[in-house]
Amino acid sequence: AVPLVAAISTSISAQNGLLIRNRTAFEKSRKITLLAFDKTGTLTEGIFGVNLVKAIDTNYDNKKILQLGAALENHSNHPLAQGITNKAKEENIQIPEAEEFENMTGKGVRATVNNMKVAAVGPAYLEENDIEIPKTDEIKNYETVVYILADNKIAGLITLADKIRDASQSAIKSLQANGIKTYIITGDNENVAKSVSEELKMDGYFAGILPDEKQEKVKELQNKGEVVAMTGDGINDAPALATADVGIAVGSGTDIAAETADIILVNSNPQDIASLIKFGKATFTKMI
Ligand code: ADP
Ligand code: MG
Repeated sequence: AVPLVAAISTSISAQNGLLIRNRTAFEKSRKITLLAFDKTGTLTEGIFGVNLVKAIDTNYDNKKILQLGAALENHSNHPLAQGITNKAKEENIQIPEAEEFENMTGKGVRATVNNMKVAAVGPAYLEENDIEIPKTDEIKNYETVVYILADNKIAGLITLADKIRDASQSAIKSLQANGIKTYIITGDNENVAKSVSEELKMDGYFAGILPDEKQEKVKELQNKGEVVAMTGDGINDAPALATADVGIAVGSGTDIAAETADIILVNSNPQDIASLIKFGKATFTKMI
């Protein structure tokens, strides 16, 4: 039966934007009970637009906050970074030089700008450094918040939003119709994860998960008896993809993530995974 499965999997994958790196992946796909998605760029388009720029510390104005943010994000290729630098360019803001740039994977970025230590970070970094999250009622539940720090104190914040892909709704429905639970595992904040998960009527989410914790979440689900498939991108997702029963690297993912994966999702489209699982189950039923 293996050559048949191999032949079928090759033809199905070619039609559906999937690269199957591992011949047993197709076999394993029909045993999946739970699919954990990374959010950004898979369930969502991964294209962030800035909604709000707000100075919190009165030593700064909104323009300065965007300027510091852009100086940092100019050196990052994270989807959030693109959103912030695009906004600065749109507003014709001059982007200052950044020195000693450092990428803190899953947490943010930092550098020295105009002799000042600045950082653009998410809530995980604030928590880790005991920095209180500023209270404001201007943030919508679907917005990702980037905090701009100067000398490790909050100077301001920038909110951004991404759009849920059109294909996500039908993909989740189709997976659930095939008895597969769907979860989000993301480094993004609780509100955003909850809002996407509810919008798509998914079975649950894990938010604020640091890169090295993603693998732990996969193990946790496996220990509950789930056969877990996981999508991911970036070097930081590679260990989680390797731990998952089926690791799925998304299209724009780095080479390292792709090397650990069983399947590569060429167009980052969640509908393609739903198709793979549906065909996998149908093929198996026909063979027995
Ligand atoms: P995901 O798990 O959704 O792929 P990442 O691990 O890429 O998320 O990032 C997790 C969080 O880390 C982001 O939601 C953000 O808060 C923060 N972060 C990562 N990179 C940056 C950056 N370049 N600028 C600001 N914040 C960042
Ligand atoms: Mg990511």
